[in-house]
Amino acid sequence: MAVPLLDLKAQHATIRDEVVRQLMKVVDDQAFILGEPVQKLECEVAGLSKTKYAVGCANGTDAILIAMRALDIGRGDEVVTTPFTFFATAGTIHNVGATPVFVDIDPKTYNIRPDLAAAAVTSKTKAVIPVDLFGQMAALEEIRRLLPSMPIIEDAAQSIGARRKIGGEWRMAGEVATIGTFSFFPSKNLGGYGDGGMIVTQDEAIFKRLMRLRTHGSVQTYFHEEVGYNSRLDALQAAVLLAKLPHLAAWSQARRDNAAFYTQAFADIADIVPPYIDPANESIYNQYTIRVPQRDALKDHLKAKGIGHSVYYPLPLHLQPCFAHLGYKEGACPEAEKAAKEVVSLPVFPELTAAQRDDVVAAVRSFFGK
Ligand SMILES: *Cc1c(COP(=O)(O)O)cnc(C)c1O
Repeated sequence: MAVPLLDLKAQHATIRDEVVRQLMKVVDDQAFILGEPVQKLECEVAGLSKTKYAVGCANGTDAILIAMRALDIGRGDEVVTTPFTFFATAGTIHNVGATPVFVDIDPKTYNIRPDLAAAAVTSKTKAVIPVDLFGQMAALEEIRRLLPSMPIIEDAAQSIGARRKIGGEWRMAGEVATIGTFSFFPSKNLGGYGDGGMIVTQDEAIFKRLMRLRTHGSVQTYFHEEVGYNSRLDALQAAVLLAKLPHLAAWSQARRDNAAFYTQAFADIADIVPPYIDPANESIYNQYTIRVPQRDALKDHLKAKGIGHSVYYPLPLHLQPCFAHLGYKEGACPEAEKAAKEVVSLPVFPELTAAQRDDVVAAVRSFFGK
């Protein structure tokens, strides 16, 4: 049986009535821009992330861009980040006029190596952007320890609701960074029916600046203290997300259960390296990503068997043509380059049935002659 990488229709079927009810409230009110649903969602996401403030915006890319603007990052500045992430993490650094500085990843978690991030800091460095890749948080406390006064923008697009034990206490994604950013792109764990994003912070001054930046740099309508953006979270998206949010914890648990099932089922195959979750972390498994030396052949095999899969990410950002002017050569970030050649993600979505899971396992095992 064919198994998709992600089945949004299966999820929608479980929540359709509640989503339609919330959507129709907005439609009947004819109040589409910001307003109550957006404020309510901001409260809920701040509560989930244990942050004082949350600001809805148009998408997860804008969330990172606006976060940098709120920290006055721009031309001539450097921002240290990981090359093994979705393009937006570095594209936004470029788009504020700054220069991305790429440092290598930990080969087990695929997250940025704090020691390398610290070593890359210069007098021009204005922030570090760690990414909580595939649903598990980066070692934020280690970055903080090495760089006590450096702002940290946590790209938590893939990790809303993930948590990490820091100093014996659970800390949520977005909680301990200077600014945390989320995406509600449909394929994220909390996905809208279109684009959406959110920015969280504990800092009141940063919060006020974020609010201003999302509405053209203006607090009082038609008076502009700075040039900002038109980057609002749509009220209709907020309505969908309000209907979905109460299910997020159970969905993330279902993903963890699926992940545990796979890891057990692949345990006797030496060539499969299952996802490594740092013991300090609880992952939300936005992706279940294995690495195998014969990755491209496995991809062909899965394709022939109708098993959904994808490579996140096939070309690290320091080697992207658009960043050629930065002068990185192959070998600059060897672990990211190796991961890009070996990783493949399998279906882990919460609505996966037992039969679908078995088919994924059988397809993968048959590739290894099992
Ligand atoms: C999805 C994603 C983004 C961008 O989010 P959009 O809402 O698509 O703009 C940024 N960073 C990471 C790591 C992502 O996975």
